[in-house]
Amino acid sequence: MSLLRVDNVDKSYGDEPVLNDVSFAMDRQQVEVIVGPSGSGKSTLLRCINRLTEIDSGEIYLDDEEIHSVDENELRRRVGMVFQDFNLFAHLTARGNITLGLREVLGLSTEEANAKADDYLDRVGLADQAKSYPAELSGGQQQRVGIARALAMDPELILFDEPTSALDPELIGEVLTVMEDLAEEGMTMLCVTHEMGFARSAADTITFLDDGEIIERGPPEQLFENPEHDRTRTFLGELT
Ligand code: ADP
Ligand code: MG
Repeated sequence: MSLLRVDNVDKSYGDEPVLNDVSFAMDRQQVEVIVGPSGSGKSTLLRCINRLTEIDSGEIYLDDEEIHSVDENELRRRVGMVFQDFNLFAHLTARGNITLGLREVLGLSTEEANAKADDYLDRVGLADQAKSYPAELSGGQQQRVGIARALAMDPELILFDEPTSALDPELIGEVLTVMEDLAEEGMTMLCVTHEMGFARSAADTITFLDDGEIIERGPPEQLFENPEHDRTRTFLGELT
């Protein structure tokens, strides 16, 4: 049984089709990387999976439950998300950003939530920044708080939407290292990224999305060395 199954999903904004008959499935502990040109529908696809955006037709199953029959808060606890622009609350400390969901969604006490937040900050190498506000942190540190926040909810799947695209080049590595560690620990991850080094080393499967359609999907060796489609070769050739 797949952890995530996307079946024949269509999505338009007004009369502009954005996702066209998208289907794929992921097992537990798999790392899937989605690549594709800007505007190809990558963010929309991720947002449909945790219902930040609603699909027009098709079905999406999490652990064999159609996501529309799952309570939205419960769905977002089970499916974490890490955003390109971090999406941290500026008025909350690193710890406060993590404890918010723990207290309000999971119902933990302040003490329990603080302890858990500090564990996860430690895990992303930020044990000493619990009381820092986002503006006092580098972009790489902010994104590591974002990852700790997602992890702390104990999700079954984490969606990453270009988690390093907003970072200065020298800060990308620290975020990719955290992601590589997670992949190694067996976290199920669906990652939109242009970091082909990460894709080669961490991905089990790469999906090439173009113009709202899955053009090709397979293991990294296949997509990089022996793609079936010229479009895949051209696109990946430009990234690497
Ligand atoms: P990607 O993440 O691959 O760059 P997106 O999923 O963000 O692509 O966008 C796919 C297409 O949908 C683009 O043409 C974009 O302009 C359009 N789009 C995205 N979000 C919205 C929205 N909220 N309203 C209208 N159009 C949107
Ligand atoms: Mg996007």
